[in-house]
Amino acid sequence: MSRVELLHIGGERIAAAEGATDTSYDPSTGKPIATVSRAGIEDVDRAVRAAEAAFRTGDWAHYSPRERGRVLLRLAELVRTNLDALARLESRDAGKPIAAARGEIGGVATTFEFYAGAVDKVHGQTIPGSGDGTLLTFREPLGVCVAIVPWNFPLTITAWKLAPALAMGNTVVVKPAELTPLTALVLADLAIEAGLPPGVLNVLPGPGEIVGDALVRHGLTRKVSFTGSTAVGTQVMQAAAESITRVSLELGGKSANLVFADADLDACVESSVFSVFDNAGQDCCARSRILVERAIHDEFVARFTDRVQALRLGPTDDEATELGPLISPEQRRSVEAYLDIGDAEGRRLIGGERPTGPLSGGSYLTPAVYVDVDPAGRLVREEVFGPVVAIQAFDTEHEAVRVANDSRYGLSGSIWTRDIGRALRVARAVEAGMLSVNTSSSVHIEAPFGGMKASGIGREQGMAALDHYAEYKTVYIARD
Ligand code: NAD
Repeated sequence: MSRVELLHIGGERIAAAEGATDTSYDPSTGKPIATVSRAGIEDVDRAVRAAEAAFRTGDWAHYSPRERGRVLLRLAELVRTNLDALARLESRDAGKPIAAARGEIGGVATTFEFYAGAVDKVHGQTIPGSGDGTLLTFREPLGVCVAIVPWNFPLTITAWKLAPALAMGNTVVVKPAELTPLTALVLADLAIEAGLPPGVLNVLPGPGEIVGDALVRHGLTRKVSFTGSTAVGTQVMQAAAESITRVSLELGGKSANLVFADADLDACVESSVFSVFDNAGQDCCARSRILVERAIHDEFVARFTDRVQALRLGPTDDEATELGPLISPEQRRSVEAYLDIGDAEGRRLIGGERPTGPLSGGSYLTPAVYVDVDPAGRLVREEVFGPVVAIQAFDTEHEAVRVANDSRYGLSGSIWTRDIGRALRVARAVEAGMLSVNTSSSVHIEAPFGGMKASGIGREQGMAALDHYAEYKTVYIARD
């Protein structure tokens, strides 16, 4: 372990004021890979003040939108130039198969490209008012924005917050997850190289309940964009309420995959396996409840289970690996506790075992498939955040929609049918922020991404994200 990472404040790498450090581990081996400065309260104040100074006295907010776009485009280019190194770092820090990590880093570059091109299309209006003067609106940046990021898609989610915030002229403090701080720190180095003025982007690795909480409560923070669990999202919203700091929340999910009897079963089985087991099931959009029309239930279960057993669990640096480890030994224990619950509430067909042999040093778990589950039980109601799926049978379209909506969450979902009328009816009826028909994709940088109900408030991606980082200002000019 040779890598040592310092905080990023005011355009410089500096050690935490208290000198504390954390160790980052590779989840596929359990071995340490880096020592990282651990920010504390004093560092929060330093970073927020650096961001505030960059906003008040610096040029960034006063660059023309196109000039800001050019810096973001240069950053996107640098991400692409360094794609392989960033992907390897993300793969080791977050325990992702290298092929998946490469795809994610490519998506990071695309995110910066999208907002580089989008920002000069955001503008105020001239509004026909009742007076005879001129009524105008301006779109203005907010000031210091805080981005709080989880560990499951570290740089992807950082970019979803950072790119629209920077595009609108804000300055940002990023708080990466404790377990995955490395790529955000490297991104901040690249941002300086791309021409982002010092202090516009600051990165503070550290514990959420100290650093995250202090960032939310800091009086100079104007906006918090949080992605993480619903429990912590609730705390963030409560803390932000004290200073009337605006928040957007991307939270947990328990998404349904609705499979009707007329579905293309080959495509459906292949896609459904990855829709729940990608990223070892640690995906807010994971379709962890599969609802199958009774006429094809048994055939679906047999084919799905066969495909799951063929998934290639392996080392994260192997190009052929489809399924990597869980993020940590603690997360594996948390998932195993759900296996105990699942065994009491349903029938486990396969999976849920720790592999022996070469993978035994990592936090691996074989993917588990349950049937005959209690529809009121915890396995189908709570977010497991691991490689576990529950399959339920339904008889009618009405019942499928009712069961899909019988959840506190409403993030995403899939619908498999060849009947376009039914696809549209069900898509309108399911309470979720993103739905896919005859596919499992949830992420389209051009379109809004986010949840309903306990899955969150607000949207990332698309033009919708820019609204979270801009203020309206109305100006009325008298005629003479
Ligand atoms: P988490 O809620 O434990 O932590 C998320 C972030 O919040 C981390 O950076 C953490 O340090 C910080 N944090 C913790 N306590 C805090 C506090 N009191 N104040 C401020 N910040 C605090 O979540 P996690 O375990 O890192 O991620 C998994 C969760 O994230 C799952 O529930 C998953 O569904 C959700 N998630 C949602 C989306 C989405 O877009 N809806 C995307 C990815 C993950």
